[in-house]
Amino acid sequence: MHQVMSKAGASASKTLIEVDLSESPYKNEMIHNRWHPDVPIVAWVKPGDDFVIQTYDWTGGFIKNNDSADDVRDIDLTIVHFLSGPIGVEGAEPGDLLVVDLLDVGALPESLWGFNGFFSKKNGGGFLTDHFPLAQKSIWDISGVYTHSRHVPGVSFAGLIHPGLIGCLPDQKLLDTWNAREAAFIATDPDRVPPLAAPPFAATAHGGSAKGAVKDKIAAEGARTVPPREHGGNCDIKDLSRGSKIYFPVYVKGAGLSMGDLHFSQGDGEITFCGAIEMAGWLHLKVDLIKGGVAKYGIKNPIFKPSPIVPTYNDYLIFEGISVDEQGKQHYLDVHIAYRQACLNAIEYLSKFGYSRAQAYAILGTAPCQGHISGVVDIPNACATLWLPTEIFDFDVMPSAAGPVKHVKPGVDIPMSPDV
Ligand code: ZN
Repeated sequence: MHQVMSKAGASASKTLIEVDLSESPYKNEMIHNRWHPDVPIVAWVKPGDDFVIQTYDWTGGFIKNNDSADDVRDIDLTIVHFLSGPIGVEGAEPGDLLVVDLLDVGALPESLWGFNGFFSKKNGGGFLTDHFPLAQKSIWDISGVYTHSRHVPGVSFAGLIHPGLIGCLPDQKLLDTWNAREAAFIATDPDRVPPLAAPPFAATAHGGSAKGAVKDKIAAEGARTVPPREHGGNCDIKDLSRGSKIYFPVYVKGAGLSMGDLHFSQGDGEITFCGAIEMAGWLHLKVDLIKGGVAKYGIKNPIFKPSPIVPTYNDYLIFEGISVDEQGKQHYLDVHIAYRQACLNAIEYLSKFGYSRAQAYAILGTAPCQGHISGVVDIPNACATLWLPTEIFDFDVMPSAAGPVKHVKPGVDIPMSPDV
């Protein structure tokens, strides 16, 4: 009962934000789903304080622990992400660095499961949406430090648990910059499916405890939480795990630190987009300040130190990909295309052991796979690699003279929901 012990250990520190998973996050005034300088601070702490924050999963409980992907198909993606905060830090001013120690992160004892899904191409899509255009969902059970799925047999692994999303509030100038550049980008191809970016959307905005005109302003111009930006935000970095130390640029008085989108585990790239192994949970944090640290260290985007506690999967089968697309077309040093080819190569390989292609895709999105940009200078091909840990499988995945044995028997697959 590792998770329960962790929670008990953490609870010696004050819990500043609690979530009730049976209640809509829109009813919780310590939750918000847009970035805006006017989102009211929910609690103040001092430099040196440690405290506990609980979070919803990124969809606020919309995705259920069942065997249907209808919820992944039907979700309104303008509701995400539900973030806990913002936390104010006394003395923090624009230009400071906020130092955040992720002392520990865990699942809530009443919710020891997570989900991984692929969005329909018509509702969000994903990295391989042209190959997996329909909604699918797998459920992953959390058992102490380990996870396994009833929808993906033959594989289990220890979690490298982390918040997908964490950062400080932007000031008005930075917010305006985001909205202007993303609006201009959308205008280059406004009808694209999936869209190029997610613009402000008032109807589903949650401005925390804001009321009246402030609430309306947040709804009208609050930046969506989908992309990572200068402040960090939705970076989805698996190595930003418990034990990490992060240095965030501060833009507003009090910093306004918010977080959510906890992942029990994720492969580099979060290629399945809905998403890693998504879960509700808690974080035990400590904060400090480096006054004037942004200029002192030349910081534009956050920097961080990884965790000293990492699952030890040291043996990998590594798949290469180059910047030649599925149609055989040459692209110039394009790492996005090269990584896609590496992932597709791994999926094709795993399918020889009996996995459906969807199960293989889910493994790459959830297991502690590494993605590397290996070469970006050897014209015309970039080279990217996908590192598949071999020890997560309960059979031998290495090539051999005997050829692949179909260890995974057909019969179990990842639930799919056709578009309606
Ligand atoms: Zn996520």
